[in-house]
Amino acid sequence: MMRSIFAKILASHIAVILVTTLTMGILMSFLIRNYVVESRRTELIQKGVGAVSLITPFLQSGGNLGTLESISELVGANAWLMDSSGKVLAGRAPERWLRRLAENPDELSTFFSGTVQSWVRTGRRQADPAIVAVIPVPNTSPPSSLFLYAPITGVTRAADAVERLLLFSLLTGMAAALGIGFLISRNLTKPIENIIVSADTFAKGNFDTRTQVTGSDEIGRLGQTFNGMAQAIAGLEQNRRDFLANVSHELKTPVASIQALAESLADGLVTDQSHKQRYLANIVAETGRIDRLLNDLLDMSQLESGELRLKIESLDLANLVTSHIDSHLHLFSGRHIQISINAQPNLPKIQADPHRLGQVLTNLLSNAARYAPDGSEIKLALTASNSCVALSVTDQGPGIPAADLPYIFDRFYRVEKSRVRSDGGTGLGLAISKKLMTVMEGHIAVKSIEGEGATFIITLPTV
Ligand code: ADP
Repeated sequence: MMRSIFAKILASHIAVILVTTLTMGILMSFLIRNYVVESRRTELIQKGVGAVSLITPFLQSGGNLGTLESISELVGANAWLMDSSGKVLAGRAPERWLRRLAENPDELSTFFSGTVQSWVRTGRRQADPAIVAVIPVPNTSPPSSLFLYAPITGVTRAADAVERLLLFSLLTGMAAALGIGFLISRNLTKPIENIIVSADTFAKGNFDTRTQVTGSDEIGRLGQTFNGMAQAIAGLEQNRRDFLANVSHELKTPVASIQALAESLADGLVTDQSHKQRYLANIVAETGRIDRLLNDLLDMSQLESGELRLKIESLDLANLVTSHIDSHLHLFSGRHIQISINAQPNLPKIQADPHRLGQVLTNLLSNAARYAPDGSEIKLALTASNSCVALSVTDQGPGIPAADLPYIFDRFYRVEKSRVRSDGGTGLGLAISKKLMTVMEGHIAVKSIEGEGATFIITLPTV
């Protein structure tokens, strides 16, 4: 059973070569043999006809032609003249021939029909292969014919030699073709084997493995596709590891705090009632942080698996924003932050899930509140364009450095890590917002110049 592609290609190559070589060999051998024998037969008839025209006048005048030696020499064959009664008039007929005629007297008449006859006698029955030609002599009574018997052993020997030469060159050609076939098959299958080895190594967890097989043919493209896929999987794997490390890191801080606070309380180290209250409040705050992180992780996982169910409605974005700010005033309390809303009149309605859009608004407003300095202004603007409504949230905070802007929507990405973590952010807000906007067929973008505040813009399709 041929399991490898290499064996299959080689076998088909051998099959093609064998069939072609055998067909060509048999055909050429037949053609050569036929050509050689037919040329000799034509030559014999032509010379025989010439000889007959030479001897005819002599014969008609009743002359004796004797042994016909010169004719034999001229045509290169044993020649004899015979009449329709079976009498040899000149030359020497082979004994076997005469015996045969004596045994089959009916056959005699067939040689005197007045037409040229010739045939090839194969070398069976111990006789050498030969060409026999019978050329009628015109106007003789009784009718007579010149018989020519030319052994063709030499001719067939030459054909045998040509055949042997042909067989030799075919075998040599076949051996060379087999060698070439072997190299081609190996050339074709070696890169495939390389890809298999790379895929095996990759499957065993070595995510840096890439194949060296490249090029513009199908196998080269397979190699490139493999490398592209390996790159993507390695990226996902790295992402997964980073994510796990980030989650553990995010959980570690509040859990460690809770543990330390709870242990102090349990050990009776904190005796003062007001201190006890502060410890307990801290435990509650840290628990809240864990709760927020777990909720964000749950949202993230639902968004990434596509399991998040949306309730899309047609909404008035200006109304939604106003009521949202009203219910989130606690974010700005005691900080003298001014919030202004500038809405273009007659804004068309948008399509969105109010709860999920609220989640995005909360994230943008709490970030703006977190970074806006006390006494500054947060500006909200609503505009309509190209079957979309856009909402921008601009603060006068520290802004975001240009180098960080491309990563701001990545999970757990923070410009200034320690400060934000202490402020209670999970690092997932913008990543979740971006995914939510995408599932609602909207868009989120950021513009910022470091030191000059930041503007987050969301756009949503109109009804
Ligand atoms: P976090 O929970 O840390 O706020 P986000 O995903 O909401 O997580 O924000 C990611 C990071 O983006 C923040 O840690 C902060 O570095 C930066 N960022 C977000 N909003 C602003 C803003 N308005 N001004 C400056 N930096 C911001």
